[in-house]
Amino acid sequence: MKGSLLYEGKAKRVYHTTDNSDRLILAYKDDATAFNGKKKDEFTGKGRLNNLITSKVFEYLHQQNITTHFIEALNDKEQLVNQTTIIPLEVVVRNKAAGSITRRLGIQEKTSFIPPIIELFYKKDELDDPLINDIHAYYLTDITEQELTFIKQQALAINEHLKNLFRSAGLELIDFKLEFGRLPDGTIVLSDEISPDTCRLWDIETGKKMDKDVFREDIGSLIDTYEMILQRLEENVCAK
Ligand code: UDP
Repeated sequence: MKGSLLYEGKAKRVYHTTDNSDRLILAYKDDATAFNGKKKDEFTGKGRLNNLITSKVFEYLHQQNITTHFIEALNDKEQLVNQTTIIPLEVVVRNKAAGSITRRLGIQEKTSFIPPIIELFYKKDELDDPLINDIHAYYLTDITEQELTFIKQQALAINEHLKNLFRSAGLELIDFKLEFGRLPDGTIVLSDEISPDTCRLWDIETGKKMDKDVFREDIGSLIDTYEMILQRLEENVCAK
């Protein structure tokens, strides 16, 4: 059963569970934020869509033997997860140039990265999540060199799985952000969410942006777009 509120973030509320102290409930909110919270809005139904999309993606990753914090979707807006202590790093994997890397390094949008580029950002709102290197990560977090190597390997393996998953839904995976957490025994597992809020997805046929960029750039309906992603995942991928 849902217990007391542990934490409220920009996209989710985190609750204790009354029956098992190692498990948490994540409740997805309808709020949308971009540019580290500088642009905000609310979209009825967004919480449901991101909860259901993330649940499908994590179930798929489990089938591919990737361990995550995810246990199950409980209802439209909530999912049960194993409690982890989040490592304050955003691990971004880029297959093609879009977003901040185009501005930061003057790389033209759509440029392919083979092999994919991995970037680390320090999760710290007050600092606007700055780009950091590995040595900063050892200083700023408790991860070891070996663990960072593991995180990067996982990120690249997850990239391959997600590329396949989204390709079968007619979508090209441009880039995405991952967060990892530690279980009580210290093991590092994939945590947080994987949704159109945290991935860039372009329609393979039309090249149309089908992710949070519709909100960031005011180029379409966020709800219609996310609904389409969920439908395509349901129709093409997870029909078992
Ligand atoms: N991203 C995210 N949360 C963040 C920052 C980025 O989920 O706080 C995702 C973003 O949706 C994109 C990828 O990480 O899929 C790379 O984002 P980028 O660095 O280009 O930053 P942005 O353009 O979002 O400012």
